[in-house]
Amino acid sequence: MLLLYAMLGLVVSSFLNVCIDRLPEGESIVSPPSHCPYCGRRLAPLDLIPLLSYILLRGRCRYCGAPIPRRVLVVEATTGLLFALLWYRYGLSLRLLLATLYTCLFIVIFVVDLEHRLVLNRVIYPAIAVALLAVPFTPHHQVVELLAGGALGFGLLFLVALVYPAGMGMGDVKLATFIGLVVGFPSVFVALLISFVAGGLAGGSLLVSGLKGRKDPIPFAPFLVTGGMVAMLYGKEILDWYWRWVL
Ligand SMILES: [Zn+2]
Repeated sequence: MLLLYAMLGLVVSSFLNVCIDRLPEGESIVSPPSHCPYCGRRLAPLDLIPLLSYILLRGRCRYCGAPIPRRVLVVEATTGLLFALLWYRYGLSLRLLLATLYTCLFIVIFVVDLEHRLVLNRVIYPAIAVALLAVPFTPHHQVVELLAGGALGFGLLFLVALVYPAGMGMGDVKLATFIGLVVGFPSVFVALLISFVAGGLAGGSLLVSGLKGRKDPIPFAPFLVTGGMVAMLYGKEILDWYWRWVL
């Protein structure tokens, strides 16, 4: 079953790649059918098999030879692995369904921000709406925990954005709101702590290595998403471990 679910993840990953390609351009994600962005040729079913077609075609369009971004392959593999992890963690349950939906949104937000330095309103607003609608039905979390998580995510990052507008945009604030609604209080602190530590380490090492200057913006959403994913999957365990260690 875990393998089947991972296969489902691969199928879904093709759709996520379409979303990542088209949403920043303001294009529809349902039509036209998948085509090569260079030669416009419509892709045959054989070109659309996740992982396999990229490997068989050696990362190039079958018709014009234009390179397919390596990101396509990375998103496919990552989505498959994450689906396997979600099944391993939750089994067949309502929790699995919700976590899967949130994971897909996380993947799209992560890659779009990495490629465009944008958290798209057309992704994050529906994401927040879905999380709000799911609040009363989320197993293992009380309504008040989830709402408090959303409020904390919003409030804390809004403060950071006020103090440090160059480093934190409103897109990050909306994303933190979504993450807070997904993981709830107190796991929202785990999510934010991981994001800031990871973002600080990555920013610091890019600065030290000279790959980025002090003024270069570094997209923060990938770090928030990483923190959100870890907190969604293991927030409670991390907090339990932390309290045992402190007390
Ligand atoms: Zn082509």
